[in-house]
Amino acid sequence: RGASGDLRLHDGFAALGPTFFTRLRPTPLPAPYWVGRSNATAHLLGVSPEWLASGHALEALTGNMLLPGSDPLASVYSGHQFGVWAGQLGDGRAILLGETEGGFEVQLKGAGRTPYSRGGDGRAVLRSSIREFLCSEAMHGLGIPTTRALSVTGSDQPVRRETLETAAVVTRVAPSFIRFGHFEHFAAAERIDELRALADHVIDRHYPTCRDGERFRGNAYAALLEAVSERTATLLAQWQAVGFCHGVMNTDNMSILGLTIDYGPFQFLDGFDPGHICNHSDTGGRYAFNQQPNVAYWNLFCLGQALLPLIGDQELAMAALASYKTVFPREFDARMGAKLGLPKTGKVAAAAETDRPLIDGVLRALAAERTDWTIFWRRLSEAVVAVDFEPVRDLFIDPAGIDGWLEAFATRHAGLPTEAMHAAAATMHAANPKFVFRNHLGQEAIEKAQQKDFSGVATLLDLLESPFEEHAGLEAYAGFPPDWASTIEISCSS
Ligand code: AMP
Ligand code: MG
Ligand code: MG
Repeated sequence: RGASGDLRLHDGFAALGPTFFTRLRPTPLPAPYWVGRSNATAHLLGVSPEWLASGHALEALTGNMLLPGSDPLASVYSGHQFGVWAGQLGDGRAILLGETEGGFEVQLKGAGRTPYSRGGDGRAVLRSSIREFLCSEAMHGLGIPTTRALSVTGSDQPVRRETLETAAVVTRVAPSFIRFGHFEHFAAAERIDELRALADHVIDRHYPTCRDGERFRGNAYAALLEAVSERTATLLAQWQAVGFCHGVMNTDNMSILGLTIDYGPFQFLDGFDPGHICNHSDTGGRYAFNQQPNVAYWNLFCLGQALLPLIGDQELAMAALASYKTVFPREFDARMGAKLGLPKTGKVAAAAETDRPLIDGVLRALAAERTDWTIFWRRLSEAVVAVDFEPVRDLFIDPAGIDGWLEAFATRHAGLPTEAMHAAAATMHAANPKFVFRNHLGQEAIEKAQQKDFSGVATLLDLLESPFEEHAGLEAYAGFPPDWASTIEISCSS
């Protein structure tokens, strides 16, 4: 922490050596202005809200001047995109400024071209930058692992996408931005020394308990693969439970720390459509909502393939990956158990084996009518308190479709004494958010911001930082999406 509360950095990732990155400077943008700032992320970094609101921060976080101690770089990685090996990619528009004393890396996204930009302009538009900024903080508010966002700054400099838009820069923060694709890059090039250095760096800094390779005959790299598989499984369980669709689960968008990373065409489900495709460019539906858990496993398999030269034994690698298949269902059922207010057994409420029909039944009933995912769960939580299930039944055109299930749900809970019922309601309120960052909410804030009114961004940030709370006067943000919401088309282009 800088005593003055301003942001000071040093090299972290750069210790890996020059084959991992290229040094460079951000490309300045004219006349930057603030679009959004997260004081919560500032706090995480040990910087003061005053510094974050300063003119110095505005210029530095747009890439127009360097922060003390910063020697920026762009890193190289590769990856599989839509199931196909894409070769070298890399930070095409992300620039790593450095690391804080507290161990957080700070990146600018959209601060200009890098050697890895390929055909791209190195820029990000205001629209997608607001989406990344708000969704990062929204995910954190939901308790889901994610990269964080410190700020968005804008400039009137035009950027061409499908139409002419304007430039923006997101400052994002994470303990590490290393992706599966970093490992794939050095494995594909058969640069085993670099591959090992990368794995050792990740183990030493982020997975120290893997070092002894317990359960894997002392193989630290198999232990790492297992630990990443477990974190990824937990992440996916959380995405599925909250109705989050990532949209571009390429291996270069998979965090080695199991964080949600690279917010592009993501979407929180409105109506529950298990096969929903949120990415307009994903014509085959590879990244449809209900495909996500399998795709994550496929991606882990790519990581396992990349780590194989270090693990040195195919069977050990497969054993490490197998943990995904036990952890994902266990974690998903635990999350669903919490959503259903089932009694706590561990960290989260757990669904018993006998609760499977209850979970499957509600998913079937919601899918049958494309019932609004978030509103259903929140109303169910409230129904338990009010002992009145009419507002839940009202969500269905044919209430007969849910009546049988509601009876089973009530029976499951009726066996509990009153005190446990209160505990169930509390569990449900803490597991079923009232507010999620729906596409149309983002769209309204974006359109205002394009007119230089940033109040919508600030309101949403405030709301989404505590999505389980009531927020008097902001009921409208918890309502059904308007008809036009389903016409919003979001593609990879951002
Ligand atoms: P994504 O699909 O957003 O994960 O991006 C895939 C690759 O394209 C990454 O290497 C990005 O850095 C790069 N990329 C995406 N957009 C741009 C852009 N506007 N300029 C340069 N590189 C980009
Ligand atoms: Mg990416
Ligand atoms: Mg991206």
